[in-house]
Amino acid sequence: MTSTDIDKQADEEINFAWEGDSRWEAAKYITLRHMAGRLPHLMRRSLSIAWRVDRPSVVGLLACQIVSGIAAALGLFATTSTIAALISSGNISDRLWEAWPSVAVLAAAAGIRATLFITVTWLSSRIAPRVQQEFELMLLEAATGSELAAYDSPGFRDRWDNAERGAIVSKDIIEEGQDFLAAFVSLMAGAVVLGVLHPLLIPFLLLASLPQGIAQVHSARVSYLASVKMVGHSRMIGVLRWHLADRHSADQIRAGTMAPFLLDKYRRLTHRVTDVHRQSVAEGARMAFLGALGGGLASAVVWGLLIALLATGHLTVAAAGTAVLALRTVTGSVQGVVRNAAMIFRTGMYMDDWSKFLEETGGHRLAVGDVIPGGPEEVRAENLVYRYEGSEKNALDGIDFTVRTGEIVALVGENGSGKSTLSRLLTRLHLPTSGTVTWDGHPTTSLDPHAAWKHVSLVPQDFSCWPMTARDNITLGQPHSDDEKDIWEAASAAGADEVVRELRSGLSTLLAREWLNGAELSGGQWQRVALARAFYRPAALLVLDEPTSALDPRAEHRIFANLRRAARDRAVVLVTHRLANVAVADRVVVLDHGRVVQEGTFEMLSKAPGLFRELLELQNDRTVPAQRRAAKGPGL
Ligand code: ADP
Ligand code: MG
Repeated sequence: MTSTDIDKQADEEINFAWEGDSRWEAAKYITLRHMAGRLPHLMRRSLSIAWRVDRPSVVGLLACQIVSGIAAALGLFATTSTIAALISSGNISDRLWEAWPSVAVLAAAAGIRATLFITVTWLSSRIAPRVQQEFELMLLEAATGSELAAYDSPGFRDRWDNAERGAIVSKDIIEEGQDFLAAFVSLMAGAVVLGVLHPLLIPFLLLASLPQGIAQVHSARVSYLASVKMVGHSRMIGVLRWHLADRHSADQIRAGTMAPFLLDKYRRLTHRVTDVHRQSVAEGARMAFLGALGGGLASAVVWGLLIALLATGHLTVAAAGTAVLALRTVTGSVQGVVRNAAMIFRTGMYMDDWSKFLEETGGHRLAVGDVIPGGPEEVRAENLVYRYEGSEKNALDGIDFTVRTGEIVALVGENGSGKSTLSRLLTRLHLPTSGTVTWDGHPTTSLDPHAAWKHVSLVPQDFSCWPMTARDNITLGQPHSDDEKDIWEAASAAGADEVVRELRSGLSTLLAREWLNGAELSGGQWQRVALARAFYRPAALLVLDEPTSALDPRAEHRIFANLRRAARDRAVVLVTHRLANVAVADRVVVLDHGRVVQEGTFEMLSKAPGLFRELLELQNDRTVPAQRRAAKGPGL
């Protein structure tokens, strides 16, 4: 493809939630009937999660709801007797005297309900944050238990984001569940009262609530679909926001005058999200309007029925008075039931994303074999092929490679030749597409990965700078030990000892400048700490992926000088571009486009014609600056 061809192509667009996505399909079938069927399941699930985190509160909540329902029904019945007493014949003091017991019941019922309402709010606010924590932890646990390859798979982050939202809204389901229960209980109380007054009132009432129900469910569906549609954009917005605020980009954004471009991109993305959001709320409003209209008409029918019953003598005046009150209660409750059911349903859809992610870890559950390996003495790749998901070419294309304890093997090659990929396959971070990687004869597919990684010490090309103390940065991943001797030994092998010694609290210094009070290291100093972490691990397989890229010559020399000692009881794979330094290796393997093109000692390869000598000569070539000086003439 020529450069003009590239110019002609339009920029690629983010499109994570495509038509045909399973969630998209599922959401299309959100209907009132479907919802009514799913609701008990969702309620049960929210209850069981709450039950797991806080039993006493759940028991308290349920008890409160039941008592509150009974109080509501009693209150309504007491209304009938109050009205009946007040409109009966006799003088006013007799009537009041007759009415007072039911007035007392009415007052008590109202008092009890108010107290219970406060208790319910308190209890559900107690449970909700715990539920959310539980959900988030379970999600993080699942995500860290996925294959590394998951991160290369399109849609994994997307599913993770959706699952994350499921975890965040999980606390809402407790509140929504409570509100639903409260509305439901009050609906039942009202319905019982109405049923006693006149059975015909109940079916009419349910009919009257139908239009609102349909409208609520439709709105829930529209808003869920809108968020599914925009998940990619929302993530991009989050990423941009992160870069705009992050200190690591801060210097580039300023010196590179990137802010206007980035802010414009941010603005356009947020506008697209708000446009979709606006469409969905407009649709929601339209449906709410239609629902209200339908609901209003239906209520008119119910009121008409009530008047007809009264006119035809099927209801007494006292009963009709109660019916009016009960109808108002029940209408409010029906709306509460439907609104909360729709909310639970929407929350439930997000929570489904969460539980699906947990079930299959976003489709990439870690393959756990039954072989519990010891530290490998020989790691061997045979005819190894690896292709990243969604990629069209093999990143590794028929590699044969061996490394043994006591040996340092250097991997060299140009950018993109497959060095990092190979190091991830040797350490079982990836599994072969075809061919094998074996640890002492056991294919990595048969290993228990957690057990295997205990024997691996890896400094990846992009290592993490943990916002923790220097000590934690070195010992992270190892059981806690109070003995500092080993820490200092590892630090000294990596040249991190002098870094730590200069910190104001030594190993106890917090390495996080952004966070109040922390100290910050330079890129090279961080690299020394990452190397110290690798040396600290008592692992049989040490893989260093360009470990000295940021180091000064003295620090680099120290690493290479110490590597031999580290290799005494380890197999060492060293990826590096500093070709002069690979002399430390017992063997050098040269990769090109995913294949081994040369293999031998440094001595051999630096003399034989081939890629290695070519790269070595380029690295040692000092002619380019000299020519420039010559061309510009003296005086420079
Ligand atoms: P090296 O470490 O030698 O520079 P890598 O092993 O990182 O090279 O990459 C080898 C090839 O695999 C490159 O062509 C690169 O584009 C591709 N590649 C690396 N990582 C990924 C990934 N996560 N998804 C898809 N392709 C990848
Ligand atoms: Mg690499």
